Amino acid sequence: MKDPIQRDGLRHKFWEKVPLKNMAPKEWEALCDGCGRCCLNKLEDEDTMEIAFTRIACRLLDGETCRCAQYDIRKQFVPDCVVLTPKNIDEIGYWMPPTCAYRLLHEGKALYDWHPLISGTAQSVHDAGISVQGWTVPEFEVPEDEWENYIIED
Ligand code: SF4
Ligand code: SF4
Repeated sequence: MKDPIQRDGLRHKFWEKVPLKNMAPKEWEALCDGCGRCCLNKLEDEDTMEIAFTRIACRLLDGETCRCAQYDIRKQFVPDCVVLTPKNIDEIGYWMPPTCAYRLLHEGKALYDWHPLISGTAQSVHDAGISVQGWTVPEFEVPEDEWENYIIED
């Protein structure tokens, strides 16, 4: 499949050398592996702040491409959609899935070899079973008080 994320013209292995806050905007964007996991609804334990991901996807997530169907105007539909930036990653990085490239680098870890920047293809994220392709449930199909029945292991 064609990689929906622009990954041309980037500095060689920038993710190993350039701190997150110093990355060029296109390098920051290219860090996204396209998994779609950050668009799954989560449940947070108020006492422990532990996050549990569910199979219930945001209403704008395309469950096949794993992309936001209305990225440019998503705030009109989902006002609380959070956009990760170098400025807020300290605060909300823990809210991202453990495989997320931004979270991995923020925690001083390496990217996995299925990451498109390393594998050279977006398909590897799906083949490795990391993306949400084909197994999400649209949020309008399940009442919120039943989301805990859809918790996944991450
Ligand atoms: S979880 Fe991280 S790597 Fe995956 S789509 Fe979201 S921002 Fe990109
Ligand atoms: S609005 Fe788009 S980017 Fe935001 S959580 Fe939903 S699908 Fe993901």
